Amino acid sequence: MKEEYIVDVYHANPLHLESGKGNHVMDNNMISYLDMTSGVGVCSLGYQNQELLSLQREQLGKLTHVSNAYSNSQKQECAKLLCKRSGCKKVFFCNSGAEANEAALKAAILKYKRKYPNCWQWSVISIEGSFHGRTLATLALTAQADYHKGYEELLTHNIYCKKNDIGDFYSKVNQNVCAVFLELIQGEAGVYELEKSYVKEISEYCKKNDILLIIDEVQTGIGRCGSLFLYQQYNIHPDIVSCAKGLAAGLVLGATLFFHSTADIFHYKEHGSTFGGNVLSCTSACYVLRYLTDDRLDDIAEKGRYMREKLKQLNMIEEVRGDGLMIGISFHEKVCLDQLQNDLKNRNILVLYTRKQLRLLPPLTISYKEINYFIKSLKELLISYN
Ligand code: PLP
Repeated sequence: MKEEYIVDVYHANPLHLESGKGNHVMDNNMISYLDMTSGVGVCSLGYQNQELLSLQREQLGKLTHVSNAYSNSQKQECAKLLCKRSGCKKVFFCNSGAEANEAALKAAILKYKRKYPNCWQWSVISIEGSFHGRTLATLALTAQADYHKGYEELLTHNIYCKKNDIGDFYSKVNQNVCAVFLELIQGEAGVYELEKSYVKEISEYCKKNDILLIIDEVQTGIGRCGSLFLYQQYNIHPDIVSCAKGLAAGLVLGATLFFHSTADIFHYKEHGSTFGGNVLSCTSACYVLRYLTDDRLDDIAEKGRYMREKLKQLNMIEEVRGDGLMIGISFHEKVCLDQLQNDLKNRNILVLYTRKQLRLLPPLTISYKEINYFIKSLKELLISYN
């Protein structure tokens, strides 16, 4: 099937997916695949969770959307759950990770302009290798030259610091920096972690110098790394956190969490979104947030540890990185990732890859049996390449 009516920006893949069940997706020939991608971290609870489906069906029969001019209990409940679980004070709902980051950036600029009226000199720091989205402001935040091509003139407010190099940070930070954006594990770059001591030092510097610390948890958040948010493992106190992807288990929802220091920045009409806080999406998100109990989060962390340990024992694997069920694998140069992805597909397993790394983002509900099947298949393939 050709994608002749869809803008040509995605890698053409002949696989045509039509349905999903549990942690598997099915193609148009009813062939089932173990999904180690969960739609790039979106289908956090897999497919056809019966409890979630019945809540969604019930909500579909009542109301799917109300304008943000009106209140609604699903929206309120979802915001409350996010506040209670993170310690933030207020939530802004939107539709994607990029929009959640845009809201954070707009708030940082507003705060700066209130402090220095009529001053256009604000700048924002992000870290080389990070990915923050594809809108004009977030592609500028994204510290990867490939994404800037054609838009270089938009980068005038951006400063890019070398990853895990605190000296580079100190040499570039200045009094016009209004915010630092951190992606604690750089997912799109291939699952590379920021060191805890580096993050802690930046966090302390920001606190002392009235710079907002903004943590992009679009990929790492909502249980992916074995805690509701990854920053909760870093002993830091962010001013703003963005999230999206797995929040509504396959429906569209992004959220920007504003903590005590930032909860009052936006005033009436200073920001907004038509679809943000969609009632059906919020119904799903409430379920996801309740589903992710401490026990289940511990289980996700444990499954991730188990998988990384098993992967490290395989031949031809050079490095295994990540936390929880966000895993990056670098291979010996003999391994061709195109071929590996295809060979895994022929064994009914779907994976993602970036540059020279394999990326695993399975549904958080993946079982040990499914993990073992993946490891066994990968092991056999790697032996056959050697
Ligand atoms: N931030 C991070 C860390 C991401 O991984 C992504 C998407 O992959 C984004 C932001 C952008 O999210 P979206 O594609 O929903 O706009």
